[in-house]
Amino acid sequence: MSDTVGHEAEQDSAALNALLAKMPSVERVIASVTAQPLIALFGRTQVLAAIRATLDGWRRGTQAGTLSVAADDTGQFAPERVLDDVSRLLDAQAQSRLRPVFNLTGTVLHTNLGRAILPDEAVRAVVQALTQPVNLEFDLATGKRGDRDDLIDGLICELTGAEAATVVNNNAAAVLLSLSALATRKEVIVSRGELVEIGGAFRIPDIMARAGARLREVGTTNRTHLKDYESAINARTALLMKVHCSNYAISGFTKSVELAELVPLARTHGLPVAVDLGSGTLTDLTQWGLPAEPTVHATIEAGADLVTFSGDKLLGGPQAGLIVGRKELIARIKKHPLKRALRVGKLTLAALEPVLKLYQAPEFLGERLTTLRLLARPATQMHEAATRASPVLQRALGEAYTVGVEPMFSQIGSGALPVDVLPSYGLVVRHAGKGGSGRALMKLERALRALPRPVIGRIADDALRLDLRCVEATDEAAFIAQLPELRL
Ligand SMILES: *Cc1c(COP(=O)(O)O)cnc(C)c1O
Repeated sequence: MSDTVGHEAEQDSAALNALLAKMPSVERVIASVTAQPLIALFGRTQVLAAIRATLDGWRRGTQAGTLSVAADDTGQFAPERVLDDVSRLLDAQAQSRLRPVFNLTGTVLHTNLGRAILPDEAVRAVVQALTQPVNLEFDLATGKRGDRDDLIDGLICELTGAEAATVVNNNAAAVLLSLSALATRKEVIVSRGELVEIGGAFRIPDIMARAGARLREVGTTNRTHLKDYESAINARTALLMKVHCSNYAISGFTKSVELAELVPLARTHGLPVAVDLGSGTLTDLTQWGLPAEPTVHATIEAGADLVTFSGDKLLGGPQAGLIVGRKELIARIKKHPLKRALRVGKLTLAALEPVLKLYQAPEFLGERLTTLRLLARPATQMHEAATRASPVLQRALGEAYTVGVEPMFSQIGSGALPVDVLPSYGLVVRHAGKGGSGRALMKLERALRALPRPVIGRIADDALRLDLRCVEATDEAAFIAQLPELRL
């Protein structure tokens, strides 16, 4: 018995060696005519590496008995057949890892999908700043060295009513820098009801610790009174701080101190009030039927000495953190060494300026500011788009799934209240068969993510939901056209 097994094993390994011997050499493959266009496109170095990787894969497949490629009529593996795989590999490697997707999650400002989509004006300005030298820190009037904030602070002050402004990498940086410049080794008084955590590990107590400031918590989770702030003030107090509770709400027996109440107390003690607004919109959103959010202007008007907010949330611009307020405070912030580490690049400034300029013509804002246009889209538009896409998706999915057009609610996202406020429409896909619905929906979700431009939806209540709010008319044809390519 054991003899036979040994004999068979010997035969197998002889066959295997014969098969491996039929693989062409790397030199033969790269010398082939078919390889030349690939070399012209990707360069010899990358093509060689891809040939080696492909042949290694084939050899491993042969040994494991899993290679699906068969030798040709002459019993050889032709170099051209190898190059088919090489070409696919090179194409896959050339594809950018950062790819456009369709955001059908229903969350307009989706942090994981890059938040605000920028208007064309901003795109053009970024391309210009990328391809030509710009006066980033150069004063064209005097020919002397300039300050990059000068490009934009006038505009920010005009729109917010603040005395001075500066811009950093994001709002987390804005808060960290402000606290570092104004409150290191001092105390900052914050209500316990406002010690928020924003997604992605931004927590007020942690930022406070990083800035070397001592957090002085006052009040309770649900109720904080003016007298709580008052009795916490002492010789070490640097700031009174309010944080906008962007992503949650406490209801019931609650009390918080309004900014307008806090300001007189701070004034009496000669202390500044800082407000972290989070989203911090520059305009009253209720004109477009959106929920009320405190504007930066109103916050400054109510007496805040310093306000920090994001550039890529409701403002609709690039990732940035804006700091506005009293001249003297902004000057101290700009002098802090962290400012240099947290400053924005020219691309951010290039994108931010045209977005801010849109706010100077509020009549057109709802149409030209992409974020606002998406948030304010009438549900009828999404209904019509869903009606057009539905039969195409149904055909692509076959009988295993049923596709319907249904009303749903979109969310603003990025720290705006996660309540259902934006009526929308979309495609709702349910598993048609009995049982196994969860797995079938996950399979569908995966297939949508595998499309050339991945489609990101969400599974809820035993259905896959595709909210069409963020597929505008210019994108709709591309969205529908790739649906037949779905592979389940
Ligand atoms: C979103 C948010 C931040 C963080 O802003 P980023 O721009 O994401 O860094 C900080 N504070 C509040 C209240 C926020 O809503």
